[in-house]
Amino acid sequence: MAARTTRPASVNATDSGSESVGTLAGVGPALVTTLSRLGLERIQDLWFHLPLRYEDRTRVTAIADLRAGERAQVEGVVEAVERGFRYRPQLKVAIGDDSRQTLLLRFFHFNRAQAEQLQPGTRLLCYGEVRHAAQGLEMVHPNYQRLSGDAAASVDDLLTPVYPTTEGLGPKRLAGVIGKALERLPPDAQLELIPPALCAAHGLTSLRDALLYVHRPPPDAPIGQLMLGRHPAQQRLAFEELLTQHLSLKRMRAAVRRRRAPVLGGTGELRRQLLVGLPFRLTAAQQRVGDEVARDLAQPRPMLRLVQGDVGSGKTVVAALAALAAVEAGYQVALMAPTELLAEQHLANFRQWLEPLGIAVEWLAGKVTGKARKLALARVAEGAAVVIGTHALMQEGVAFARLGLVIVDEQHRFGVQQRLALHEKGRHGGLVPHQLVLTATPIPRTLAMSAYADLDVSSIDELPPGRTPVQTIAISNARRAEVIERIHAACREGRQVYWVCTLIEESEQLRAQAAEVAHAELSAALIGFEVGLIHGRMKAKEKQAAMDAFKAGELAVLVATTVIEVGVDVPNASLMVIENSERLGLAQLHQLRGRVGRGAVASNCVLLYQPPLGQLARERLQVMRETSDGFRIAEKDLELRGPGEVLGTRQTGQLAFRIADLARDAHLLPAVQAVGEHMLAEHPQEASQLIERWVGGAARYAGA
Ligand code: ADP
Ligand code: MG
Repeated sequence: MAARTTRPASVNATDSGSESVGTLAGVGPALVTTLSRLGLERIQDLWFHLPLRYEDRTRVTAIADLRAGERAQVEGVVEAVERGFRYRPQLKVAIGDDSRQTLLLRFFHFNRAQAEQLQPGTRLLCYGEVRHAAQGLEMVHPNYQRLSGDAAASVDDLLTPVYPTTEGLGPKRLAGVIGKALERLPPDAQLELIPPALCAAHGLTSLRDALLYVHRPPPDAPIGQLMLGRHPAQQRLAFEELLTQHLSLKRMRAAVRRRRAPVLGGTGELRRQLLVGLPFRLTAAQQRVGDEVARDLAQPRPMLRLVQGDVGSGKTVVAALAALAAVEAGYQVALMAPTELLAEQHLANFRQWLEPLGIAVEWLAGKVTGKARKLALARVAEGAAVVIGTHALMQEGVAFARLGLVIVDEQHRFGVQQRLALHEKGRHGGLVPHQLVLTATPIPRTLAMSAYADLDVSSIDELPPGRTPVQTIAISNARRAEVIERIHAACREGRQVYWVCTLIEESEQLRAQAAEVAHAELSAALIGFEVGLIHGRMKAKEKQAAMDAFKAGELAVLVATTVIEVGVDVPNASLMVIENSERLGLAQLHQLRGRVGRGAVASNCVLLYQPPLGQLARERLQVMRETSDGFRIAEKDLELRGPGEVLGTRQTGQLAFRIADLARDAHLLPAVQAVGEHMLAEHPQEASQLIERWVGGAARYAGA
């Protein structure tokens, strides 16, 4: 870190936090490697690795007072233990307490020693999420500790911060390392990057105090406020994070806009040929957006345009029209999708549309290996007109001859940094490619301006004629058995079903477990039908195999985590059940539901919810039942929950904020913009350092 003129020039290595985490006592090479998987390489990365949430282990809840959906700490005595081997081994432990109620603990991953320790009579202190079970309530894989003798359980004095972590790094260990790093936190004079005058003008309090507070809330901390992220310390950090995002988007846009791009004009002959061959006419909205894109492409500045359009609104053909403008001008086009599944669908479409026009379409995904890959790479380097693939397109070794246009589908799986990398890839002869981003997540205009400050926005706000909306109902989980019976009946009619598990957890492991539980339950209930499973912890090959089997009709039911949210297309699937639907935002529910209703049969969507419903959840489910119009849903969402929900922060990894939440913190945005403009103009170096502080580690993480 360079010394700044406004601060003491003697900022030493220890104070700046730029030295390696390996310089902390007790952090050896193995731990350094593990930490780097989280983007935690420097001491300051640890300072800014903020808790995702807090666990309240400061009190014990009576089993009788537990409510499904809550996390709670319970003390109880083991009353019965059962080891089951149906479909997969599991350990069921019933515990009871003075409230004379029983809670079931379920373990799918356990060893013998563990099973033997949990004998009847053993006293346990457990912490976990409470869920509905067949009878009563349960916790799946709670944290627990055995209590000895009659000694009362000792509860914590402090809230426990929960950090995002990775496999092989337990929460205690990570918290310990962060604690050590905090001992090196310098005074504000060295830590603060926002100029003092701006801090004073906007009432920004000590950054150092804020960090210490969120990492180690004191015993008298207002628990409710902290749990909601509304404590002044959290708000102070959220401000800085939003500011950083604003600065980095503005910078990127300015940098890209200064570059030159190829002029992709032309006679439009190829487009005309494509349109003539299509079995449908463009909707007015497709026409309008297509024209907006064409105008951008004809400029010598790089286009940075986001095309948003509801699921099924026909974004692909708009992308194809843009591609043809580039091809006609003698430039190459790269189209990237976030998953192989989605990329393959584009490949099929583009081949069908472009090959009759004499335009070859190359396929370059992770699956393409060995000789086939070498040949494809060679053709791309020689100038193959259209190249379709996944992230693999951005990897080393893929060189384009004359890349003129990059199309990125379903933007929210790609980061801004990744988009930028594409610009670098395409540079040649001083020209950078144009960029077109397609997204099915409708984004209201005001929001688009703050969250996508680096992009212009076009909307396809009309669906092609003749779509039948999916019939949607909301059903209480208390009627789960009925729903499963309904699935059974649908299977007998030859229909295919998605069962989506939506547990939102800090680790993919817990999400996977939830899906495994549902998979076991449905396998047991749906006699005579095959039930598949797909979740984020499976290997790409396994996921693909499950998807292929479902597509081929070999599986009647596919149990999935939200990995299926984007772009999966199985027309025969006409029923979707979404578990815990009350927890999802409208945008994500809408995305998920878009996976059905693609074939000739009328489709249904069942929103299973866990009563009692809160007011907001009730309204969300109501909206889902009433409409399938993505734009109306997005507007309603903004009204109900504000911007964070609309953009699906954290849930989808889009705009991966550490502490800020656009919904909760929208009131900070005006000040963020004011400080941002001032810093870009007057304090560019501090602006760079802020970006490095908040985005640096994350960017390395994303690139790993
Ligand atoms: P999305 O916007 O979700 O990517 P697609 O581009 O995949 O939607 O289009 C969905 C379906 O609608 C495709 O089968 C496509 O061929 C068809 N389609 C696109 N535009 C029209 C149109 N104007 N009229 C009728 N069908 C259309
Ligand atoms: Mg699409």
